[in-house]
Amino acid sequence: MLRDDTELPSNRDSDLVNEQEDEKLLEAIRQKQENAWSLLIERYQGRLTNFAISKLSRREDAEDIIQETFISFIKSLDNYRAEVNLETYLFTILRNKIIDKYRSRNTRTVSLIQDVFCSSQDENTYHAASNLQAAGPSQSWVVSQNEQYEIQQSILAKALMKFCQSFKDSYRFRNLKILELLLYSGVSTSTAAELVKVEESTIRAFKHRCLKQLQKFIEELNVPTDFPYSNLENLLTDTWESQRITCPKRSTIGAFLLEQLEPEWFDYIDFHVTTLGCHFCRANLKDMRQQKTLEESMFRERIMASTIGFLHNTEL
Ligand SMILES: [Zn+2]
Repeated sequence: MLRDDTELPSNRDSDLVNEQEDEKLLEAIRQKQENAWSLLIERYQGRLTNFAISKLSRREDAEDIIQETFISFIKSLDNYRAEVNLETYLFTILRNKIIDKYRSRNTRTVSLIQDVFCSSQDENTYHAASNLQAAGPSQSWVVSQNEQYEIQQSILAKALMKFCQSFKDSYRFRNLKILELLLYSGVSTSTAAELVKVEESTIRAFKHRCLKQLQKFIEELNVPTDFPYSNLENLLTDTWESQRITCPKRSTIGAFLLEQLEPEWFDYIDFHVTTLGCHFCRANLKDMRQQKTLEESMFRERIMASTIGFLHNTEL
Protein backbone atom coordinates (compact mmCIF):
# COMPACT_ATOMS: atom_id res chain seq x y z
CA MET A 1 0.00 0.00 0.00
CA LEU A 2 1.24 3.45 -0.87
CA ARG A 3 1.67 6.43 1.35
CA ASP A 4 2.41 10.03 0.58
CA ASP A 5 5.81 10.73 -0.95
CA THR A 6 5.69 7.38 -2.72
CA GLU A 7 5.92 7.42 -6.45
CA LEU A 8 3.96 4.94 -8.43
CA PRO A 9 6.56 2.95 -10.37
CA SER A 10 4.09 1.93 -13.01
CA ASN A 11 2.65 5.38 -13.48
CA ARG A 12 4.36 7.07 -16.38
CA ASP A 13 2.99 10.41 -15.31
CA SER A 14 4.59 10.13 -11.88
CA ASP A 15 7.94 9.90 -13.62
CA LEU A 16 7.10 12.94 -15.65
CA VAL A 17 6.50 15.06 -12.59
CA ASN A 18 9.65 13.91 -10.95
CA GLU A 19 11.43 17.04 -9.88
CA GLN A 20 14.70 15.91 -11.40
CA GLU A 21 12.99 15.56 -14.73
CA ASP A 22 11.62 19.07 -14.33
CA GLU A 23 15.10 20.34 -13.63
CA LYS A 24 16.46 18.74 -16.82
CA LEU A 25 13.61 20.20 -18.77
CA LEU A 26 14.24 23.66 -17.36
CA GLU A 27 17.90 23.38 -18.25
CA ALA A 28 16.96 22.59 -21.84
CA ILE A 29 14.45 25.44 -21.89
CA ARG A 30 17.14 27.77 -20.66
CA GLN A 31 19.14 26.70 -23.71
CA LYS A 32 16.12 27.72 -25.80
CA GLN A 33 15.22 24.24 -26.96
CA GLU A 34 11.74 24.51 -28.41
CA ASN A 35 11.02 20.86 -27.89
CA ALA A 36 11.62 21.11 -24.15
CA TRP A 37 9.34 24.08 -23.93
CA SER A 38 6.63 22.24 -25.75
CA LEU A 39 7.03 19.33 -23.34
CA LEU A 40 6.73 21.57 -20.31
CA ILE A 41 3.54 23.12 -21.66
CA GLU A 42 2.13 19.70 -22.39
CA ARG A 43 2.94 18.55 -18.87
CA TYR A 44 1.33 21.43 -17.01
CA GLN A 45 -1.32 22.91 -19.27
CA GLY A 46 -4.07 20.51 -18.22
CA ARG A 47 -3.95 21.07 -14.48
CA LEU A 48 -3.47 24.82 -14.89
CA THR A 49 -6.37 25.08 -17.30
CA ASN A 50 -8.65 23.09 -15.00
CA PHE A 51 -7.74 25.37 -12.11
CA ALA A 52 -8.32 28.52 -14.18
CA ILE A 53 -11.70 27.26 -15.37
CA SER A 54 -12.72 26.52 -11.77
CA LYS A 55 -12.04 30.16 -10.92
CA LEU A 56 -13.09 31.96 -14.09
CA SER A 57 -15.83 29.70 -15.46
CA ARG A 58 -15.38 30.74 -19.10
CA ARG A 59 -12.96 28.56 -21.02
CA GLU A 60 -11.87 31.46 -23.24
CA ASP A 61 -10.89 33.52 -20.18
CA ALA A 62 -9.06 30.53 -18.75
CA GLU A 63 -7.13 29.95 -21.98
CA ASP A 64 -6.11 33.61 -22.20
CA ILE A 65 -4.84 33.60 -18.67
CA ILE A 66 -2.95 30.33 -19.14
CA GLN A 67 -1.12 31.83 -22.11
CA GLU A 68 -0.26 34.87 -20.02
CA THR A 69 0.93 32.56 -17.23
CA PHE A 70 3.35 30.75 -19.53
CA ILE A 71 4.62 34.07 -20.89
CA SER A 72 5.23 35.30 -17.34
CA PHE A 73 6.93 32.04 -16.55
CA ILE A 74 9.42 32.50 -19.39
CA LYS A 75 10.02 36.09 -18.36
CA SER A 76 10.65 35.11 -14.75
CA LEU A 77 12.65 31.97 -15.50
CA ASP A 78 15.86 33.69 -14.51
CA ASN A 79 14.48 34.23 -11.01
CA TYR A 80 13.15 30.72 -10.58
CA ARG A 81 15.06 28.63 -8.11
CA ALA A 82 13.89 25.17 -7.22
CA GLU A 83 12.93 26.20 -3.68
CA VAL A 84 9.31 25.57 -4.53
CA ASN A 85 8.44 22.87 -6.99
CA LEU A 86 7.60 23.83 -10.52
CA GLU A 87 3.93 23.01 -10.21
CA THR A 88 3.46 25.26 -7.18
CA TYR A 89 5.47 27.99 -8.91
CA LEU A 90 3.23 27.88 -11.97
CA PHE A 91 0.09 27.77 -9.83
CA THR A 92 1.36 30.85 -7.97
CA ILE A 93 1.81 32.82 -11.18
CA LEU A 94 -1.62 31.76 -12.37
CA ARG A 95 -3.23 32.54 -9.03
CA ASN A 96 -1.75 36.05 -9.03
CA LYS A 97 -3.02 36.63 -12.56
CA ILE A 98 -6.49 35.59 -11.50
CA ILE A 99 -6.33 37.97 -8.53
CA ASP A 100 -5.32 40.79 -10.90
CA LYS A 101 -8.22 39.94 -13.14
CA TYR A 102 -10.66 40.13 -10.24
CA ARG A 103 -9.12 43.41 -9.14
CA SER A 104 -9.53 44.91 -12.58
CA ARG A 105 -13.12 43.74 -12.73
CA ASN A 106 -13.65 45.27 -9.32
CA THR A 107 -16.17 42.59 -8.51
CA ARG A 108 -17.12 41.23 -5.14
CA THR A 109 -19.48 38.58 -6.32
CA VAL A 110 -17.13 35.74 -7.21
CA SER A 111 -15.92 33.27 -4.63
CA LEU A 112 -12.22 32.53 -4.50
CA ILE A 113 -12.36 30.07 -1.65
CA GLN A 114 -13.18 26.45 -2.13
CA ASP A 115 -16.62 27.11 -3.47
CA VAL A 116 -17.20 23.43 -4.08
CA PHE A 117 -19.21 23.61 -0.86
CA CYS A 118 -21.77 25.57 -2.79
CA SER A 119 -22.02 23.15 -5.68
CA SER A 120 -21.77 19.85 -3.83
CA GLN A 121 -24.74 17.56 -3.95
CA ASP A 122 -23.83 16.03 -0.63
CA GLU A 123 -26.53 16.88 1.86
CA ASN A 124 -24.23 17.71 4.76
CA THR A 125 -21.92 19.93 2.81
CA TYR A 126 -24.85 21.54 1.05
CA HIS A 127 -26.42 22.35 4.38
CA ALA A 128 -23.10 23.65 5.61
CA ALA A 129 -22.87 25.90 2.59
CA SER A 130 -25.83 27.89 3.78
CA ASN A 131 -23.80 28.87 6.82
CA LEU A 132 -20.93 30.21 4.79
CA GLN A 133 -20.64 33.92 4.42
CA ALA A 134 -21.57 35.54 1.13
CA ALA A 135 -18.96 34.79 -1.45
CA GLY A 136 -16.30 37.36 -2.14
CA PRO A 137 -12.56 37.39 -2.62
CA SER A 138 -11.11 36.55 0.77
CA GLN A 139 -9.43 39.58 2.20
CA SER A 140 -6.11 37.86 2.32
CA TRP A 141 -6.17 37.40 -1.43
CA VAL A 142 -6.02 41.12 -2.01
CA VAL A 143 -3.39 41.89 0.57
CA SER A 144 -0.48 43.59 -1.14
CA GLN A 145 2.37 41.19 -1.67
CA ASN A 146 5.16 43.16 -0.09
CA GLU A 147 8.44 41.69 0.95
CA GLN A 148 7.74 41.70 4.67
CA TYR A 149 4.51 39.86 4.06
CA GLU A 150 6.34 37.21 2.07
CA ILE A 151 8.85 36.72 4.88
CA GLN A 152 6.03 36.30 7.37
CA GLN A 153 4.35 33.83 5.07
CA SER A 154 7.45 31.72 4.65
CA ILE A 155 7.98 31.56 8.43
CA LEU A 156 4.38 30.58 8.96
CA ALA A 157 4.57 28.01 6.18
CA LYS A 158 7.53 26.29 7.84
CA ALA A 159 5.71 26.10 11.16
CA LEU A 160 2.50 24.88 9.50
CA MET A 161 4.28 22.19 7.49
CA LYS A 162 5.91 20.86 10.63
CA PHE A 163 2.60 20.92 12.45
CA CYS A 164 0.64 19.16 9.70
CA GLN A 165 3.38 16.60 9.13
CA SER A 166 3.04 15.49 12.75
CA PHE A 167 -0.64 14.74 12.14
CA LYS A 168 0.14 12.82 8.95
CA ASP A 169 2.89 10.80 10.58
CA SER A 170 0.60 9.73 13.39
CA TYR A 171 -2.43 9.18 11.14
CA ARG A 172 -4.48 11.79 12.98
CA PHE A 173 -6.33 12.69 9.82
CA ARG A 174 -9.41 14.02 11.57
CA ASN A 175 -7.26 16.73 13.14
CA LEU A 176 -5.89 17.53 9.73
CA LYS A 177 -9.38 17.76 8.27
CA ILE A 178 -10.48 20.17 10.98
CA LEU A 179 -7.41 22.33 10.41
CA GLU A 180 -8.00 22.42 6.68
CA LEU A 181 -11.58 23.48 7.21
CA LEU A 182 -10.70 26.22 9.68
CA LEU A 183 -7.41 27.49 8.35
CA TYR A 184 -7.41 26.67 4.64
CA SER A 185 -11.05 27.19 3.78
CA GLY A 186 -11.71 29.62 6.61
CA VAL A 187 -15.09 28.13 7.54
CA SER A 188 -16.63 28.91 10.91
CA THR A 189 -16.16 26.58 13.89
CA SER A 190 -19.86 25.67 13.75
CA THR A 191 -19.60 24.65 10.08
CA ALA A 192 -16.45 22.65 10.77
CA ALA A 193 -18.20 20.94 13.71
CA GLU A 194 -21.08 19.99 11.46
CA LEU A 195 -18.83 18.65 8.69
CA VAL A 196 -16.68 16.42 10.85
CA LYS A 197 -19.50 15.58 13.26
CA VAL A 198 -17.82 16.83 16.43
CA GLU A 199 -19.14 19.16 19.13
CA GLU A 200 -18.44 22.79 18.39
CA SER A 201 -16.86 23.27 21.82
CA THR A 202 -14.36 20.52 20.94
CA ILE A 203 -13.48 22.32 17.70
CA ARG A 204 -12.99 25.61 19.55
CA ALA A 205 -10.72 24.00 22.14
CA PHE A 206 -8.78 22.21 19.38
CA LYS A 207 -8.32 25.44 17.43
CA HIS A 208 -7.09 27.20 20.53
CA ARG A 209 -4.55 24.46 21.21
CA CYS A 210 -3.41 24.48 17.59
CA LEU A 211 -2.81 28.21 17.47
CA LYS A 212 -0.79 27.99 20.69
CA GLN A 213 1.28 25.11 19.35
CA LEU A 214 1.79 26.92 16.08
CA GLN A 215 3.01 29.99 17.91
CA LYS A 216 5.48 27.77 19.76
CA PHE A 217 6.78 26.36 16.46
CA ILE A 218 7.12 29.88 15.07
CA GLU A 219 9.06 31.03 18.11
CA GLU A 220 11.51 28.18 17.60
CA LEU A 221 12.35 29.55 14.16
CA ASN A 222 14.48 32.68 14.66
CA VAL A 223 11.71 35.04 13.71
CA PRO A 224 11.96 38.82 13.55
CA THR A 225 10.85 40.44 16.79
CA ASP A 226 7.99 42.18 15.03
CA PHE A 227 6.34 38.97 13.81
CA PRO A 228 2.59 39.68 13.90
CA TYR A 229 1.42 36.95 16.29
CA SER A 230 -1.76 38.89 16.94
CA ASN A 231 -2.55 38.75 13.23
CA LEU A 232 -1.82 35.04 12.92
CA GLU A 233 -5.31 33.98 11.92
CA ASN A 234 -5.47 36.47 9.08
CA LEU A 235 -2.18 35.25 7.69
CA LEU A 236 -3.11 31.60 7.88
CA THR A 237 -5.55 31.12 5.02
CA ASP A 238 -3.46 32.94 2.46
CA THR A 239 -0.31 31.12 3.55
CA TRP A 240 -2.06 27.79 3.44
CA GLU A 241 -3.29 28.41 -0.07
CA SER A 242 -0.20 30.02 -1.57
CA GLN A 243 2.18 27.46 -0.08
CA ARG A 244 -0.24 24.55 -0.54
CA ILE A 245 0.53 23.33 2.96
CA THR A 246 -1.42 20.08 2.88
CA CYS A 247 -1.84 19.48 -0.85
CA PRO A 248 -0.81 15.90 -1.63
CA LYS A 249 1.81 15.20 -4.26
CA ARG A 250 0.62 14.40 -7.74
CA SER A 251 1.76 10.80 -7.36
CA THR A 252 -0.45 10.50 -4.28
CA ILE A 253 -3.41 11.90 -6.20
CA GLY A 254 -2.62 9.32 -8.88
CA ALA A 255 -2.62 6.54 -6.29
CA PHE A 256 -5.92 7.89 -4.98
CA LEU A 257 -7.37 7.77 -8.48
CA LEU A 258 -6.26 4.17 -8.85
CA GLU A 259 -7.51 3.33 -5.33
CA GLN A 260 -4.07 2.19 -4.26
CA LEU A 261 -3.83 4.14 -1.03
CA GLU A 262 -4.18 2.87 2.49
CA PRO A 263 -7.78 3.34 3.70
CA GLU A 264 -6.87 6.19 6.08
CA TRP A 265 -4.96 8.02 3.37
CA PHE A 266 -7.68 7.38 0.82
CA ASP A 267 -10.30 8.84 3.13
CA TYR A 268 -8.19 11.91 3.84
CA ILE A 269 -7.35 12.62 0.17
CA ASP A 270 -11.01 12.10 -0.67
CA PHE A 271 -11.89 14.72 1.94
CA HIS A 272 -9.26 17.16 0.66
CA VAL A 273 -10.38 16.82 -2.94
CA THR A 274 -14.10 16.19 -2.81
CA THR A 275 -15.35 17.58 0.50
CA LEU A 276 -12.97 20.45 1.08
CA GLY A 277 -12.68 20.83 -2.66
CA CYS A 278 -9.12 22.08 -2.97
CA HIS A 279 -9.10 23.68 -6.41
CA PHE A 280 -5.43 22.95 -7.03
CA CYS A 281 -5.87 19.25 -6.36
CA ARG A 282 -9.17 19.04 -8.21
CA ALA A 283 -7.43 20.55 -11.22
CA ASN A 284 -4.72 17.92 -10.92
CA LEU A 285 -7.17 15.08 -10.48
CA LYS A 286 -9.21 16.17 -13.48
CA ASP A 287 -6.05 16.41 -15.56
CA MET A 288 -5.04 12.88 -14.55
CA ARG A 289 -8.48 11.52 -15.36
CA GLN A 290 -8.28 13.13 -18.79
CA GLN A 291 -4.87 11.62 -19.38
CA LYS A 292 -6.10 8.24 -18.26
CA THR A 293 -8.88 8.46 -20.81
CA LEU A 294 -6.42 9.47 -23.50
CA GLU A 295 -4.15 6.60 -22.58
CA GLU A 296 -7.07 4.23 -22.70
CA SER A 297 -8.07 5.41 -26.15
CA MET A 298 -4.49 5.06 -27.40
CA PHE A 299 -4.32 1.57 -25.97
CA ARG A 300 -7.63 0.78 -27.65
CA GLU A 301 -6.14 1.84 -30.99
CA ARG A 302 -3.15 -0.42 -30.41
CA ILE A 303 -5.40 -3.35 -29.61
CA MET A 304 -7.43 -2.61 -32.72
CA ALA A 305 -4.30 -2.47 -34.89
CA SER A 306 -2.98 -5.75 -33.55
CA THR A 307 -6.27 -7.61 -33.76
CA ILE A 308 -8.02 -6.26 -36.84
CA GLY A 309 -6.13 -8.61 -39.16
CA PHE A 310 -7.29 -11.59 -37.18
CA LEU A 311 -10.82 -10.33 -37.32
CA HIS A 312 -10.69 -10.25 -41.14
CA ASN A 313 -8.81 -13.49 -41.62
CA THR A 314 -10.56 -15.72 -39.16
CA GLU A 315 -13.63 -17.63 -40.17
CA LEU A 316 -16.37 -16.67 -37.78
ZN1 LIG B 1 -4.85 20.57 -2.46
